[in-house]
Amino acid sequence: MGLRSKTMDIVKYFEFKFNKNLGQNFLVDENILKKIIDAAELDENTCVIEIGPGIGTLTQEMARKAKKVVAIEIDKNLIPILNETLANFDNIKIIHADALKVDFNKIIEEENLENVKVVANLPYYVTTPIITKLLNEKVKVSSMIIMIQKEVAERIVAKPNTDEYGSLSLLCQYHCEVKKICKVSPNCFVPPPKVESMVIRLDVMDKKRVDVLDETLFFNVIKAAFNMRRKTLYNALKPVVGDENLLLDVLNKSNIDPKRRGETLTIEEFALLANNISKLKG
Ligand code: SAM
Repeated sequence: MGLRSKTMDIVKYFEFKFNKNLGQNFLVDENILKKIIDAAELDENTCVIEIGPGIGTLTQEMARKAKKVVAIEIDKNLIPILNETLANFDNIKIIHADALKVDFNKIIEEENLENVKVVANLPYYVTTPIITKLLNEKVKVSSMIIMIQKEVAERIVAKPNTDEYGSLSLLCQYHCEVKKICKVSPNCFVPPPKVESMVIRLDVMDKKRVDVLDETLFFNVIKAAFNMRRKTLYNALKPVVGDENLLLDVLNKSNIDPKRRGETLTIEEFALLANNISKLKG
């Protein structure tokens, strides 16, 4: 039986009602499922954290290859279904929780997870907060293989001087090597979402892409530069630096024309700028 009919049978049998607010679009395409599994490069030494297992389609395939899978699902109506669909596996742990509220490092410690990868068909409403949480909280994962809205994927991999380039591109590229895996059309899901999706892989680097003296300041500079996208850097950064002469001095020292806009700066230039602000501010 195909994955689509199997999914529909489970949904009918348990009288499951899809909850749009939880981004419930279940993957029913075997080809895409295989691509995600292949991209994740799982083996008997790898552990997986899955966010939003749904009825457990991806979960089972991962459990066949990985040492252990911990699946975090927010919808209480899915827990009895998962208990049944995953009953034959002794290396899966289901946690009923909101992934936005869990302490991932605590789960990793409590469940004795090692070589951890996050693999998920993410509910689209939490994509950016989840990625931000995993990176900012320095969760001990080596890679994230995630299916997300195509538009957000394009922002993550974006380069300077494009409309997609922004704070999310810089956050992800500061911490990770980022790579597109494949595009996914809405008809690969039940029910089909309104937008196209994309699978991407983020490999967390031990050494960050650029050396930064003060990470908070670095990301504040980036935030300010993109908050006022259409303004010159000089105008956008005034609130961060305060003193206008100091700002001109810093831009001059960093070899950056004050009339440039944030979206033209490379990550190296943002690092140089933030480091010079740190030094001059003392
Ligand atoms: N993994 C399944 C698949 O590929 O078919 C389901 C993916 S579906 C796009 C997203 C899943 O995430 C749903 O099961 C939904 O209930 C769950 N979910 C939504 N918000 C969540 C949250 N904050 N924490 C954990 N799970 C969440």
